[in-house]
Amino acid sequence: MTIKLYNTLTQHKDDFTPIDPSQVTMYVCGPTVYNYVHIGNARPVVIFDVLYRLLKRNYPNVKYARNLTDVDDKINKAAAENNESIKVLSSRFVDAFHADMAQLNTLAPDLEPRATDNIDAMIEMIQTLINKGHAYESAGNVLFQVSTDANYGKLSKRNLDEMIAGKRVEVESYKKDAGDFILWKPSTDDLPGWDSPWGRGRPGWHIECSAMINKHLGKTIDIHCGGQDLIFPHHENEIAQGTCCHDNGSENFVNYWMHNGYITMNGEKMAKSVGNFFTVRELLDKFPGEVLRFALLTAHYRSPLDWSEETLLQAKASLDRLYGALRGAPIDANDIEHAKIDAVEQFIKDDLATPQALSVLHALAGDANKTEGEEKLLFQKALRRAASYLGLLTLNADEWFRWQPASSNASDGLGAEQIEALIEERLQARKDKDFARSDEIRDELKEQGVTLEDSKDGTRWTRS
Ligand SMILES: [Zn+2]
Repeated sequence: MTIKLYNTLTQHKDDFTPIDPSQVTMYVCGPTVYNYVHIGNARPVVIFDVLYRLLKRNYPNVKYARNLTDVDDKINKAAAENNESIKVLSSRFVDAFHADMAQLNTLAPDLEPRATDNIDAMIEMIQTLINKGHAYESAGNVLFQVSTDANYGKLSKRNLDEMIAGKRVEVESYKKDAGDFILWKPSTDDLPGWDSPWGRGRPGWHIECSAMINKHLGKTIDIHCGGQDLIFPHHENEIAQGTCCHDNGSENFVNYWMHNGYITMNGEKMAKSVGNFFTVRELLDKFPGEVLRFALLTAHYRSPLDWSEETLLQAKASLDRLYGALRGAPIDANDIEHAKIDAVEQFIKDDLATPQALSVLHALAGDANKTEGEEKLLFQKALRRAASYLGLLTLNADEWFRWQPASSNASDGLGAEQIEALIEERLQARKDKDFARSDEIRDELKEQGVTLEDSKDGTRWTRS
């Protein structure tokens, strides 16, 4: 089966045909690095990581770029408040972002261009847009004139005339039309800025992505992804810039546009501005990253996902069941083939149908639980491999059941070494027929949330 992707541009689930199958290109709008990311920001990273893994299994080379917006008014403001440079501030949050995303088992992109490293490419693109009559300079700003682009509105399905003439809002004095948007704006001495033909200034946000795509991936790319809130104006503006700067503005900038739905809380979109958010970092204090990842995959990516403690508890319970079926199984399962692995692949190929793919994992866990010996091992390996397509079940089962929040380490509760030592002592007590001491140790561990399970292979312990 070919890969099918819902394309916001055509509003259809389209068969995916790359421009060049030997080099597939994909771009995801990355974070503005001035704070810790919240779980809503993590959704596209995880969802399109599943897409990246799919493409990598099906094509020999995939070039995946995800930008870092490291100059922006919010960054400038935060840096000024902290009395530090934007470079120091953004580097700190880039590191935090990388650490958080690694906890969610997301693969690093092949390219991670930073806005501040690509100012030249932006200036060049802006100059081209001016030369071609699509942009104009006004009071130190450079603006894109949307009325010069007949295709403007094609992604968001907005009508250009309505956008220009229909506006009743007051238009900033430096704009010809209300819909015109900033490509470059002047910086005062206290703000970060770069020399340009229009004076010292800084780029608008939209030009970043167009210029970096053009420079690092090409004139037309295969897939561009992001949250649905980016469709307008960000992606619409990316298209305008990315097509109008080339000779023939009719060429596609991107062939497949993919957008994920919102994460909501009590039905309302999770947003920093509203204040109804959880950072990934605070959630990782309470749950393993894989629980967050699993929770993000339980809804189809185009649907909204309502987030609550219950979402996480259910994800945790599901993973406990799946890992329970993997007890004693090896980590490596690359050599295995199975119809249910193929079923998972088919679901992912069908516009990333992750809820259905997860249900196949549960079926495989059921198969493993019902069988023994070689047969069981086959199901366990199949489960491991199928789960790897979703970036799940990467630990061995014992590691999983012994997970504890970083915040509870050592200071309170027992460390793994202390637990192992007590189990050793209990074993000796039993050999010495000192059952009182043996029971005492079991109870002591139970009080600490550690459960023991004796079997012919020895004593296994888990945290509850
Ligand atoms: Zn972007």
